Amino acid sequence: MKYYAAIEAGGTKFVCAVFDEHRNLVAKQRIPTTSPTETLAEVVRFFNAQIKKGFPVCSMGIASFGPLDLNPESPTFGYITNTPKKGWSNIALLPQLQAAFSVPTQIDTDVNAAALAEYKWGAGQQLSPVIYVTVGTGIGAGVVINGQPLHGLVHPEIGHMKINTADVPAACCPFHGSCLEGVASGPAMQHIWQVSAETLPSEHAAWELEAKLLAQLCHNLMLSFSARKIILGGGVMAHEGLISKIIHFTQISLAGYLTLPPQVQLSDIIVATGLGENSGLLGAFALSLSKSAH
Ligand code: ZN
Repeated sequence: MKYYAAIEAGGTKFVCAVFDEHRNLVAKQRIPTTSPTETLAEVVRFFNAQIKKGFPVCSMGIASFGPLDLNPESPTFGYITNTPKKGWSNIALLPQLQAAFSVPTQIDTDVNAAALAEYKWGAGQQLSPVIYVTVGTGIGAGVVINGQPLHGLVHPEIGHMKINTADVPAACCPFHGSCLEGVASGPAMQHIWQVSAETLPSEHAAWELEAKLLAQLCHNLMLSFSARKIILGGGVMAHEGLISKIIHFTQISLAGYLTLPPQVQLSDIIVATGLGENSGLLGAFALSLSKSAH
C-alpha cells in the first residue's frame, strides 16, 4: 500500500492528512495557523508521527492560501509572497517542507487544488474547463483546463475582478476597494449590512444583492472561459437558495447571448461542490498523487 501526504494550508488552520492509494483517510489533524515557525514545526511533527506509525508517505501535496510563487524556475518557487496575513509574507513554505521530508512535492493554490479534486472526483469529472470558486472570508477561484491547473504568468486572482458595483453602498478590499471580493465576501457582507452574513435571514435584501454580484462573476467566467462547470463553494455559498438566485440573475445578465448545446441548462453548469468541505484537502491529495506518478 502507498501513502500520500496532503496539506491544506489556510489562513486560520492547516489541515494535514495521510491518504492511502484508494483515497481512504488514514490520519488527519487540524493545526491552528499561528506563526510560520510554530505552525510548520507542528506540521512536521504530525507527519513524522505518521511515518513512525507505519505510514511512510511517498509524496506530498500542498494546497495553500496565497499569493504563491508557482514558477519552478524562480528562486522563490513555493514561497507565500505578499499575503495580507500577518507574519506570512515571503515564507518559504515549500522549501521548508521539502527540507523536512525527502519526498517529491507539489504545491498549488488552495482553489486550483480544489478545482483539481472536483475535476477528478467531484462535480466536474473529466470536464474542461472546470472552475472552482470559493466565497467565504475571501473570494478565490481555481481553473483546471484539460486536467491541468491554470497558472499563467503568476496564477489567476479571479476574486479581485472588477464588476459593476453601483448598487453597493460600501466596499472593503484593501487593494481595490470595490472589486468582487471587496463587495461580496463574507466580511464584505458584514461591512455592508453591519451584521455577520450567517445571521442575515433569507428574505433580507442582502441575498438578492449578493446573488446579483456573484451572477456578474458567473457571466464573466462563462464568457471568458466557456466553462463547462462553475462550482460554487465556501461558507457564504452554504446559504440555502443562494445558488438558484445566482443562476437566475446570470441567465438575465447573459440575455440569451450564449447559445448552449441542446439539453444543457445554466443550472447544469453553475453548481454546488461535489466534495463539500473536503475539496481543498482532497485537492492536496490530488497534487500528491500527481507528483508520485512521475
Ligand atoms: Zn481586491
